[in-house]
Amino acid sequence: MTGCLSLLSIGPGALEQLTQQALTTLQTAEVVVGYKSYLQLIAPLLVGKEVVGSGMRQEVQRCTEACRLALSGRRTVLISSGDVGIYGMAGLAFEVLLQSGWSPESGMSVQVIPGISAVNACAALVGAPLTHDFCTISLSDLLTPWPVIEKRLLAAAQADFVTALYNPKSSKRTRQIETAQRIFLSYRLPTTPVAVVTAAFRDDARITLTDLARMTAQEITMETTVLIGNSSSFIHAGVMVTPRGYGTKYEIAAATGERK
Ligand code: SAH
Repeated sequence: MTGCLSLLSIGPGALEQLTQQALTTLQTAEVVVGYKSYLQLIAPLLVGKEVVGSGMRQEVQRCTEACRLALSGRRTVLISSGDVGIYGMAGLAFEVLLQSGWSPESGMSVQVIPGISAVNACAALVGAPLTHDFCTISLSDLLTPWPVIEKRLLAAAQADFVTALYNPKSSKRTRQIETAQRIFLSYRLPTTPVAVVTAAFRDDARITLTDLARMTAQEITMETTVLIGNSSSFIHAGVMVTPRGYGTKYEIAAATGERK
C-alpha cells in the first residue's frame, strides 16, 4: 500500500475557515502531524486519529517525521496555520522529500491544500484594505538576513504597496517593527491608515485601526499581522478601505445618491 502526504492549510483559527477539501482530507487521514497549538485549534477533527505534536522551532523534525510516515504507507497530514504555502511548512516538506529522492513517479502522492492566510483573514476583519496591489513581508530575521528584509521594506514603501507585515514582533524581536515604521514614514504620511489584527478568527481576536505614526504604540505579538495602507487607503466609519480605483468619488456618490 502506498502512503500519501497532504500539506494542509487550517486557516487562521476557526474551524469554519477550513476549506471543504481540508475537512475531507482530515476525515480520511490516519496520522496528523503539526505544531501543538495548531493541533489544538482543530482538536474536534482529530478524534480517533494518531496525532504527532511538536513544539515551536521544531519544523525540520516535524517535516521529516511526516515524510517518514507517508513514505511508510500511512495517509499522513502535515498541518500549517493559515496557508501551508505562505511562510508555512510546504516548502520545507518538499525540500525534505526531494532530498530523500522522492519524485511524483515514486508511488507516494503529495498534495498541497490551500487555505486562508493571515493576510486575507485580517483584511476581512477590518474592511477591504487589499483591494489594490499589496505585498507581504515577514519581519522574522531568524531565517532571512535583516538587510534583505530591510531592502524589501524599502522597495514596498517606495512602490506604494499596501503591505502586510507577518511575524512583526516577539518578546525577543522588538526592534524590527520600529525600523519598518521608520522606513514607511520616509515615504508615506504619518496619517496613513494601519490595521493591527491579533489572533484573527480565534477566541481572543483583537482589532485596532490606527495610523503609521501610532502603530508601534499598539499591542503587537507573534499572533499579530499589521496591515499598512497605501497613499489612497482610508479609515471611515470603522472600516479600512483601499479604493480599487473605479471611477471617481463623484461617480460613486452619484450611483449611491450621496452628496459630498
Ligand atoms: N502560514 C501562515 C503564516 C505563518 S507565519 C499564514 O498563511 O497565515 C506566522 C505569522 O502569521 C504570525 O506571526 C502572524 O503575523 C501571522 N498570523 C498567523 N495567524 C494569524 C491570526 N490568526 N491573526 C493574525 N495574524 C496571524
